[in-house]
Amino acid sequence: MPVKGLGTYDDTNIFARILRGEIPCKKVYEDDHALAFHDINPQAATHVLVIPKGRYISVADFSTKASNAEIAGFIRAVGKVATALGLDDPGYRILANMGEHGGQEVPHFHVHLFGGHALGPMLARR
Ligand code: AMP
Repeated sequence: MPVKGLGTYDDTNIFARILRGEIPCKKVYEDDHALAFHDINPQAATHVLVIPKGRYISVADFSTKASNAEIAGFIRAVGKVATALGLDDPGYRILANMGEHGGQEVPHFHVHLFGGHALGPMLARR
């Protein structure tokens, strides 16, 4: 049975285009493994996206195909960005949407980083 999120990477997705420099972003941080930029439609006072530079669709794709260096580099970047934004205290939220039920719109693995105020309940009521 196919695992969702392990399909073919779509090189035309918006984050792939940002990584290639074809469209601009409000960059917060960049290193060999990750790029962080402000979300174009912020859902909190601070809403930043952190994306790995490699061509990965989902956490399943990333965790099975990325090298240890890419995985470590990406997670370190998430931590660095949160710290650089001054969010460690009083805290923040990271979230990653996966597939249809997760509401993933952009098929390039990414982590949302929300902060700047108390964020309320984790999930909308069903
Ligand atoms: P997701 O639903 O987890 O796939 O979230 C995709 C996110 O990408 C949404 O929060 C969008 O607002 C955001 N987004 C889409 N296009 C851009 C863009 N060009 N620059 C920055 N953020 C974007």
